[in-house]
Amino acid sequence: MEDLHSETKKAEPPSSKVIGLTGGIGSGKTTVAHFIEECGFPVYYSDDRAKTIVNDNDELKVKIKELLGEESYDEKGLYDRKFVAEKVFNDKDLLHQLNEIIHPAVRIDFEEWLAKQTKYLVFKETALLFELKLNKQCYKSLLVTAEDNIRTKRVMDRDGKTYREIEAIMEKQMSEKDKIKLADYIIYNNTNLEDLKEQTERIIFDIE
Ligand code: ATP
Repeated sequence: MEDLHSETKKAEPPSSKVIGLTGGIGSGKTTVAHFIEECGFPVYYSDDRAKTIVNDNDELKVKIKELLGEESYDEKGLYDRKFVAEKVFNDKDLLHQLNEIIHPAVRIDFEEWLAKQTKYLVFKETALLFELKLNKQCYKSLLVTAEDNIRTKRVMDRDGKTYREIEAIMEKQMSEKDKIKLADYIIYNNTNLEDLKEQTERIIFDIE
């Protein structure tokens, strides 16, 4: 039977495909994200958004203080990243509980952002794409990887962190080898920025 309502049905906007963009510390994922934006594709920066959300969302503030103590926020009411990082760095269980508070809020924020997008491809930058199995919620995953010694050098130059501090962070992250096995697309960032840009453009304009 003919659907008499079909003409009045509102056309759904085409939904964007989400590409999960990830990489270990100092891999160059933020640099790639900026190249992607220059090519006209929107990028959602999960880690940056999380930093904003922990300051803006009162419900979250209460929960984080309950978990980690009042010192999680300074006298101005701002999230004390250093305090929190030190507190959870060597306590897997506490880190897990903190993530259980923050990640659902970031997920909601991302869904709201995604609903406003009109481009056929959008990118979600997140350090923990594979660790949190967020790749399963993405159309494809894009990994930026580089040799450990190159990543270490770049982060030492960028942040002034010591070799040992960076090594300690790397040890806690999933190995590059395991990430490479999981990724749909891989950018090898072992040379210069021109090469990085060229690889980025080649891959993103190829995604169907
Ligand atoms: P993090 O997870 O630590 O935030 P990231 O994966 O986002 O790191 P970037 O911040 O993009 O990495 O890159 C790390 C540093 O290395 C930055 O200072 C960036 O400018 C520099 N860098 C990245 N790729 C290259 C390259 N191919 N040549 C030279 N410098 C680079």
